[in-house]
Amino acid sequence: MRTLAEIKGRSVITEDGHWLWRGSLRRDGRPNIYAPDYTHANGALRTQCGMRAVWHCVNQKAVPEGCRVFGDCDEPTCCNPAHIKCTSVDDGKLKRLLRGIYELVEVFPPARTISKTVLSNGAVVYDIGDDVLTLSPQEARVLAELSMGAAGTAVLIQSTNQHLFLATELAAQVEKQGREIKALKAALKLDDDDRQGSLIA
Ligand SMILES: [Zn+2]
Repeated sequence: MRTLAEIKGRSVITEDGHWLWRGSLRRDGRPNIYAPDYTHANGALRTQCGMRAVWHCVNQKAVPEGCRVFGDCDEPTCCNPAHIKCTSVDDGKLKRLLRGIYELVEVFPPARTISKTVLSNGAVVYDIGDDVLTLSPQEARVLAELSMGAAGTAVLIQSTNQHLFLATELAAQVEKQGREIKALKAALKLDDDDRQGSLIA
């Protein structure tokens, strides 16, 4: 696969514009593509993650230091360059979910100053930046009730994030233990081979 056209040719193009790779996949479900690698091999052909292969074919240069190339749509095998992003990991726009799995963080404009004043007639005035919102006492009550719900949602979001963090940590631990077990098995086998070798001798 030297060109984007070749990669596209090996993909199924869906109605909503995804290019689903038909070739081999990596263990994480991403495409494995043999293509020019400007980051590690000066443009020589190398097997690499499909997202990077597409990015290399399009840009024909190395992935900038500190940047990550990742799929930005919901199809893990998608090779459409319009669905592949390259962003710095450190600018806060990318959130690391698991090793090698990133997600774009939504960016909002800076928060405006908010103040609340209760008038003597019971009306409530909210100043939000340059906007002024005057509520009748009844509207203010409804808003307060709705906000209580939002407080509950905020607690839920917090706990979900904590679980995600925990899952990430656990996945890292399991992976590490897997590597250790593999190393241990290899060491045991060597030991065994040694012993048999000395018996025969
Ligand atoms: Zn896509």
